[in-house]
Amino acid sequence: MKRSTLCVQAGYEPGNGEARVLPIYQSTTYKYDSSAELAALFDLKTPGHMYTRISNPTVDCVEKKIAALEGGVGAMMTSSGQAASLISVFNIASSGDNFIMMGNLYGGTTNLFLVTMKRMGIEARVVDPSMSDEEILSRFDDRTRLFFGETIANPSLQIFDFDRFAPLAHSKGVPLIIDNTFATPILCRPFEHGADIVVHSSTKYMDGHAVVVGGMIVDSGKFDWNNGKYPELTEPDESYHGVVYTEAFGNAAYITKARTQLMRDLGSTPQPIAAFLLNLGLETLDLRIRKHSDNALKVARYLETRTDLIESVSYPGLESSSEHEKALKYLDGGLSSGVVSFSMKGGRDMAMKFMDSLRLAKIVVHVADARTSVLNPASTTHRQLSDELLREAGIDPGFVRFSVGIEDIDDILEDIEGALSKCL
Ligand SMILES: *Cc1c(COP(=O)(O)O)cnc(C)c1O
Repeated sequence: MKRSTLCVQAGYEPGNGEARVLPIYQSTTYKYDSSAELAALFDLKTPGHMYTRISNPTVDCVEKKIAALEGGVGAMMTSSGQAASLISVFNIASSGDNFIMMGNLYGGTTNLFLVTMKRMGIEARVVDPSMSDEEILSRFDDRTRLFFGETIANPSLQIFDFDRFAPLAHSKGVPLIIDNTFATPILCRPFEHGADIVVHSSTKYMDGHAVVVGGMIVDSGKFDWNNGKYPELTEPDESYHGVVYTEAFGNAAYITKARTQLMRDLGSTPQPIAAFLLNLGLETLDLRIRKHSDNALKVARYLETRTDLIESVSYPGLESSSEHEKALKYLDGGLSSGVVSFSMKGGRDMAMKFMDSLRLAKIVVHVADARTSVLNPASTTHRQLSDELLREAGIDPGFVRFSVGIEDIDDILEDIEGALSKCL
């Protein structure tokens, strides 16, 4: 089935006389006829739900839908995107190990990897696309476990160069993990470009209505873990009666371990209602992401004409963008999602004046939902930094992150035009 059909149909198949719409199984526990059946579940010998911290029928259906959309062998929903990123790495890296991360990752992920995971004894090594292949390869050693990047980086909007970095990771025997949040599986299927694991913050376009925080990990089932680097997958797990994941679960070893071991122990469990709401959002994902992309391109084109007030516009869908070629190659028809970044002449003050003058677009700490919204890092998330320190962090004080919604484009453009006229 095509992606737009999967968005609506995948994951839930009602039986005769059952609810047509995915039901919310608001139950922490499940009943079995015999203790032997339950024992088989605990031994991972038969599939089934035993406790909602580990799995739940409502959550299960949404996981199946997203696995189908990404083309993976299995998926696991988490309570947030942050939890998905943490588990995706921790599943195959332990104290003393290291991994490679792109320098342009989402701020929350960067902090998790460079500060918090360091406290777990796991070292993240930063690379960026301007480095030569040799330089990047020199960052790997025999304790390197994975390579982590974002399809469309938040907020720099750089596009991950799969054809360059997937072979680099694989030449070192490690999987490529991709955060596909901004692209969604509608615009990009990372597994088709060499990625092995995909993570999402479903809080963004997948939910699309800004109602529920959530995350997802998807396993392509393509990576061969039997290369000596992943003993946690290829050697007995003491906490599960010595199960060997690669032997017992074949190409679903990674995602099975993430659930049965890490979700069990860390408990970053999504609520059934969160899965229900996410599923509702997913039904219209294909429609929405196309409209977001169309609107955003029109906004970016308009902003480019306002050289009187705007220093630069960054959007991968623009022909002028350094990312445009990669957008055409990796994103469906070059559709580049809904976030447009630009820099106002006149710095922080002018950016604040512009934002305060908007009427339709609201100032929020969020991106990627149906409503147009806007954020200026200099006056909010990075407020404590001086202009000088901001520039050192790679953020222009006049930088504005504009999340284009699915309203009528004429109303969005009128709002922007009106706010710019207040800045003249
Ligand atoms: C928001 C975001 C995250 C974190 O997700 P939460 O659901 O907020 O925990 C991770 N990656 C990207 C690209 C994001 O935009």
